[in-house]
Order: sequence, then C-alpha cells, then structure tokens
Amino acid sequence: MNHVSKIGIMGGTFDPIHYGHLVSAEGARDEVGLDQVIFVPTGRPPHKSNYNITNSQDRYLMTVLATASNHYFHASSMEVDRPGFSYTIDTVQSVVEMYPGAQIYFITGADAVLDILTWKSVEQLLSLCYIIAVTRPSYQLDKLWDRLGHILHCPKRRIISMEVPALAISSTDIRRRVREGMTIKYLLPEPVEDYIAKHKLYKQ
Ligand code: ATP
Ligand code: MG
Repeated sequence: MNHVSKIGIMGGTFDPIHYGHLVSAEGARDEVGLDQVIFVPTGRPPHKSNYNITNSQDRYLMTVLATASNHYFHASSMEVDRPGFSYTIDTVQSVVEMYPGAQIYFITGADAVLDILTWKSVEQLLSLCYIIAVTRPSYQLDKLWDRLGHILHCPKRRIISMEVPALAISSTDIRRRVREGMTIKYLLPEPVEDYIAKHKLYKQ
C-alpha cells in the first residue's frame, strides 16, 4: 500500500512565534509521524480584536525564521494573503486541496480547543481533519473532555490529546517583557529575537 501522507497544520497568531509553538509542533510530528508541519500565521483572527496585532508580514517573516532549521517545518502565507477574517476551516480546506488523499492534523493548544464552540463549521472541520490538542500549562485536558462531551456527539474520536513538555511561554508575556525592557532570551529562537530588536516590535 502506498504511504498516506500526513500533514500537520500549526495555526496561530504567532505574535511572536516562540518555543511553546515549536515544541508542540515537533511533539505532534514525532508522535503521529507527520511528513511535514505547515505553520500558518493567521490573517485577522476573529477572536483577537482586542489588541493591536502586529502586521502580518512581520508575523509571517518571524515564522519563516523560526521554522527554517527544521527539515519538516514550513511556513505558509495562505492566511495572511487572504483578505478578511481567518477561519480554520478555510485553511484546512486549502490544505486538503493541495494534498489530495493526505490525512490532515490540525495542531492546537488545549486552551484553543476549549474555544471550539466558537469556531466556524466545527462539525465540517472534524470531518476534514484530526485535531491534536496539546497540553499547555494551566489548561487541563480533562476539563476539555468534560466540555467537549456536551458539544460534540460522534466526531470526538477525531480529537487526539497529547502531552508535550510544558513550557509556560506565551506571546502575551513576551510582548510585555519587551515593552518593559526585560529579557526574552531562550523563550524563542534567536533569529526571531533579533528580528524583534531590529524592527523595534512590541516597544509600546
Ligand atoms: P497570545 O498570548 O497572544 O494569545 P499565544 O502564546 O497563546 O499568544 P497563539 O499564537 O495564540 O500563541 O497560539 C497558537 C497556538 O499555539 C494555540 O493553539 C495555542 O494554544 C498554542 N500554544 C501557544 N503557546 C503554547 C505553549 N506554551 N504550549 C503549548 N501550546 C501553546
Ligand atoms: Mg493564545
């Protein structure tokens, strides 16, 4: 039988991308045996309208820098190039079209899966891809199952939970640190740290 390719999608605002994202994607790649992981910085996320998100070009370029050294990782500008709000379903659909016959795995943190109710076309999404919910400090996976039980009936088996080394790193904290003049070393790849300094991101 031919090898069915397995494609991971790691979506996020990536403002900026950090080791929490990279560890999650690499953990999923290794455990599921993904052939590649495509990092897709979001264009205009419908749920993040409450702070000034950094322009898409900067977030995309930081994603390129962060993923360059991993043979399995790629960055895609498909969402930042798409006008209007970004929805996971549209991205997954594009990847399905790009890789006919492939199994698609959408990798996300447990906190983001808890928002699943607000996602557009969640039932359709689960018919197109598996969702890998990775642990994130302060978000319990069991809480996730309790809540999902009420929301989803059959496609629950399409959601895979996965333990990854816990890194209490968030983009919000990195932005705050830069604003307050604190170090961000070892929270994210050095080229991304250099990019932030060079372009004076997150100063205010
Ligand atoms: P922000 O603080 O701006 O919300 P973030 O650090 O949560 O940023 P996002 O771009 O919102 O990063 O996250 C993209 C995806 O990565 C989400 O599914 C999120 O749950 C997951 N993620 C982010 N940080 C971690 C982490 N430290 N461990 C595991 N998953 C993470
Ligand atoms: Mg977040």
